[in-house]
Amino acid sequence: MKHNFGAGPCILPQTVFKQAAEAIVDFNGLSILEISHRSPGFVEVMEEAQSLVKQALNVPDGYSVLFLQGGASLGFTITALNMMRDTKKAGYINTGTWAKGAISEAKAVGIDVNVFASSEDKNFNYIPKGYTVPSDVDYIHYTSNNTIFGTEFKHTPETSLPLICDMSSDIFSQEIDVAKHDIIYAGAQKNLGPAGATLYIVKDDILGKSTSPFMPKYLNLKNHVDKGSMLNTPPVFSVYASMLNLRDLMANGGVQGAAQRNAAKSSALYTEIDTNPLFKGTVLEEDRSLMNITFLLRDESGKDEFDRMWNDAGIVGLKGHRSVGGYRASMYNALELSSVKVLTEVMNEFTRTKG
Ligand SMILES: *Cc1c(COP(=O)(O)O)cnc(C)c1O
Repeated sequence: MKHNFGAGPCILPQTVFKQAAEAIVDFNGLSILEISHRSPGFVEVMEEAQSLVKQALNVPDGYSVLFLQGGASLGFTITALNMMRDTKKAGYINTGTWAKGAISEAKAVGIDVNVFASSEDKNFNYIPKGYTVPSDVDYIHYTSNNTIFGTEFKHTPETSLPLICDMSSDIFSQEIDVAKHDIIYAGAQKNLGPAGATLYIVKDDILGKSTSPFMPKYLNLKNHVDKGSMLNTPPVFSVYASMLNLRDLMANGGVQGAAQRNAAKSSALYTEIDTNPLFKGTVLEEDRSLMNITFLLRDESGKDEFDRMWNDAGIVGLKGHRSVGGYRASMYNALELSSVKVLTEVMNEFTRTKG
């Protein structure tokens, strides 16, 4: 068995892999891959998935849950198009690669983007603070967890304007206040399910109010809400496996239970990084992500040996993103504490052999 620290597509519980595999062979006598998305069997799956999202995140009344295609990358475009109002301006917080992606797609659909806070000056190794949120814009956008750089917002940005969040890499990892947001979106493949579905949690009040002159049918969230996320063929298998994963989450203490496990896992690794003299973390301590933990070898000359050691221990996906270098341990919900212990033990062992 490998220990998967990959940044995404993500590890899922073994029971979910097994149940999903069984449904490929037999789902009410057919394969889940060949059933009609309009069949009662799948309509039930979609409804259960939507309802589990609402339970897991305590989604208040007045919000709809959608599973669309296109990934979080199309979410950059969809959110900008749907939130465009009279000013055609928006405020974005730039905390790294994905936030930049959201900024450039908003510009591409004609939004005048005001980047009112950024951590680009220090290669995104912190979360900006002490900024003033603009008031003359249609909405505010932020990225709750920065998958590549390893920083995470510990507080929701304060604003009375509509608030949009890309939660691709930390949704379901800890409790959130959905009511502070107008749209939350997340590619499934980081902490929810297999690639293919993108989760949207949308406040119904915002629907149908866009001032964009350009609004293709698929990109208009109102059309999807009106059709119960069945405007066209949804990503059936990804929705099914995500539903299985949400069932498993709810059976294991819900988001609160996951948050406790994630706190234990991240604290085990950060403690090792902070106490082991051969390693150092790359981001400001108070802004450290619980999902993607970035760190470096203080002396790169030990790199080949360390890489060989963690490879031999069955660890995969530890290589850092090229824009940061070093290592990145992604610790999504399904990664077990025992896998984290394997990693900290390898780090320890490496230091002993160097000692
Ligand atoms: C991975 C990721 C994306 C891109 O997701 P796709 O579904 O591949 O388009 C966007 N935002 C964040 C925060 C991510 O981690």
